[in-house]
Amino acid sequence: MEKIMVAVKRVVDYNVRVRVKPDGSGVVTDGVKMSINPFDEIALEEALRIRERGDASEVIVVSIGSTECQQQLRTGLAMGADRAILVETSQAVEPLAAARVLLKLIEREGADLVILGKQAIDDDNSQTGQMLAALWERPQATFASAIEFAEGKATVTREVDAGLEVIEVDLPAVVTTDLRLNEPRYVKLPDIMKAKKKPLENIAIADLDVVIDPQFKVTNFAPPEQRQKGVMVEDVAGLVKALKDKGLV
Ligand code: AMP
Repeated sequence: MEKIMVAVKRVVDYNVRVRVKPDGSGVVTDGVKMSINPFDEIALEEALRIRERGDASEVIVVSIGSTECQQQLRTGLAMGADRAILVETSQAVEPLAAARVLLKLIEREGADLVILGKQAIDDDNSQTGQMLAALWERPQATFASAIEFAEGKATVTREVDAGLEVIEVDLPAVVTTDLRLNEPRYVKLPDIMKAKKKPLENIAIADLDVVIDPQFKVTNFAPPEQRQKGVMVEDVAGLVKALKDKGLV
């Protein structure tokens, strides 16, 4: 296989305690640590392993968003991707818009495999990979926990409710990653230095001729309800009474 394309989204780091803006229009991102979406790190790690074992020759990381996404692309390059593409826009990018942009890049680059995260942890949509496969009219294997290749096909193990399902898809295909696929590598300082010299191409979204108009409007954003303090009980009788008082038994 020639090329693997990996989509990485810039999101609020998963260790950050997210705060909702006072006007309920979204979450605070100013001054907040941003990172590659964790499932996309897994996607990139898998692409690198596939290339390292000789099953692919090039890994391209792509992101759609603001100029700041270059930080996450540089991290991707430091992890080992060969080159990066940023499709720049200041507008919010919904899954359908992201899928349309990714399709344009596939048409330009000719990817044999596109790996995405199963979901972005900021909006929890879990839609982009599926929409991309449909627009591209290629097979998809979602929630992958293992991937193997042979003779133009990918064999993908999927985590489903009842256990593990193994499916085979013809390449080119779309794969989305689940948590247990791998453990992404740590970036080392020399790799960060090396990544500065790797190619990072900037494309204005307007130059791709895609429709990215919003399909929905977020009408409100509210933080989760505060958890109530627990009550210590002396014994079983105390527990039963506490449950009765709350009307739970
Ligand atoms: P979602 O459908 O929003 O949950 O996102 C699923 C996956 O699509 C993510 O894990 C990324 O791999 C990819 N993706 C979504 N939005 C973007 C974006 N703006 N830039 C790059 N990749 C994206």
